[in-house]
Amino acid sequence: MAEHEHVRVAVIGSGFGGLGAAVRLRREGITDFVVLERAGSVGGTWRDNSYPGCACDVPSHLYSFSFAPNPDWPRTFSGQRHIRAYLEHVTDLFGLRPHIRFDSEVKLMTWDEDNLWWTIETTRGTLRADVVVSATGPLSDPKVPEIPGLDSFPGKVFHSARWDHDYDLRGKRVAMVGTGASAIQIVPAIQPQAGRLTLFQRTPPWVMPRMDRAISGAERWLHRRLPVTAQARRGLLWGIRELQVQAFTKRPDELGLVEQLAKRNMARAIKDPALRAKLTPDYRIGCKRILLSSEYYPALARPNVDVVASGLAEIRGSTLVAADGTEAEVDAIVFGTGFHVTDMPIAERVARADGTTLAETWKNGMRALRGASAAGFPNFMTVIGPNTGLGNSSMILMIESQLNYLADYLRQLDVLGGRTALDARPAAVDAWNERVQERMKRTVWNTGGCTSWYLDPSGRNTTIWPGTTTEFRRATRRVDLAEYEVIRKPAPVASRKSEALA
Ligand SMILES: Cc1cc2nc3c(=O)[nH]c(=O)nc-3n(C[C@H](O)[C@H](O)[C@H](O)COP(=O)(O)OP(=O)(O)OC[C@H]3O[C@@H](n4cnc5c(N)ncnc54)[C@H](O)[C@@H]3O)c2cc1C
Repeated sequence: MAEHEHVRVAVIGSGFGGLGAAVRLRREGITDFVVLERAGSVGGTWRDNSYPGCACDVPSHLYSFSFAPNPDWPRTFSGQRHIRAYLEHVTDLFGLRPHIRFDSEVKLMTWDEDNLWWTIETTRGTLRADVVVSATGPLSDPKVPEIPGLDSFPGKVFHSARWDHDYDLRGKRVAMVGTGASAIQIVPAIQPQAGRLTLFQRTPPWVMPRMDRAISGAERWLHRRLPVTAQARRGLLWGIRELQVQAFTKRPDELGLVEQLAKRNMARAIKDPALRAKLTPDYRIGCKRILLSSEYYPALARPNVDVVASGLAEIRGSTLVAADGTEAEVDAIVFGTGFHVTDMPIAERVARADGTTLAETWKNGMRALRGASAAGFPNFMTVIGPNTGLGNSSMILMIESQLNYLADYLRQLDVLGGRTALDARPAAVDAWNERVQERMKRTVWNTGGCTSWYLDPSGRNTTIWPGTTTEFRRATRRVDLAEYEVIRKPAPVASRKSEALA
């Protein structure tokens, strides 16, 4: 039987997380690794989300790698095209392409407890890896609600993350379902083309103005000539966000002032009191992600837009029916209904030696030591794992912290030597998780009076980090071996391919 290829590390995904991991491995002197990517190019979020108006909502100088600054960001909040180009550039700059296997979707990976390696089945064959880094993204698999009648809707249907650019919206009657971060970017971008735009809003978001502007040629020149100015800019953006965290995590009442600013943002554009009432949230700002847009409310005030303050409940032919009975006949439906977040899809494809999947282990909620290691799944780490999300700052900061942890994990394995694996101790996972959940109790995400995608079906917040990015950086600086069981084996039962060839 042919030997399977064997690598030291297999990274799954080539978004910010997977590419960042690849750069980090190279920096650690590790070249025996592959990046498995189900799509045909890198970019993750920024490849898949190409909807009109798509842009980051954390300023570009902070929403980028610290080790790959880009002095040429064109706008303070750059668009999808530029962020995607940046990730392509990072891939080339660090020579990552030879490591990447495109069109290689991980179907199943199983821990081999005799040999201490993972057997990974992909759409392009099977391979083995000593360590797996799962960077499959928190917002990667679109979620479309099960609406009765959707299957027989005669018009066009697509999700915001799978935009059909061949479909011409001009003059069409379009339904936008959802009012999250993507929807509020899409609405102003498509409103001028649509004949009629009907927004199905289950819950109104809090929307603050977005201070987006072109970054001038002089600023870019300065950032190129004096990189310290770009660093200072990044530092300032980061510092402001660090200072805001206390209000989210410990003193949600202080956010009342921010609500006043958001209400003023709305009042400037929405003159109709009935529409204002529909658009005013009844929960504490910050409980759901605070959205940034200076164009959303002006678009909703246009005569070709209807806001239905009720979720989509049913579809009868081409008529959409809201839970409150409002009806709208449309030609196309755009779902801005988010992603599978608390039910991370890769978890169904990761199995222990006895066949138990990570999804089964997490059936009562995701949990992992320091956001990375789940008990019973040795040498497997998640990037942007449980409770590593942020409500107000750049996820790249969290990714880079997790990569520090990964680097130390691999160093520890080296120091231990031989065929070794590290398995998070259940007690350590529980202790970490209890600390996180204890801190979560006072946060706006748990006390703000909303239901959001941060919470799992039981109401537990398994997605957000309840602290500053500095605290997380400190918590992930080193691997504490006391938190892991060290598993050792003598020589492997089947030798590695490279050894067999030697
Ligand atoms: C529209 C949008 C805007 C956002 N804006 C911001 C922002 O402004 N600031 C911020 O901090 N965050 C933002 N985010 C969150 C964003 O997801 C993260 O910042 C970051 O891009 C996540 O990177 P990632 O590499 O972890 O995941 P992704 O970018 O999602 O990449 C995951 C990769 O894994 C691949 N993959 C998944 N499953 C498999 C499998 N089984 N086999 C092989 N490959 C697989 C996917 O194809 C994908 O390429 C935004 C998200 C969206 C959707």
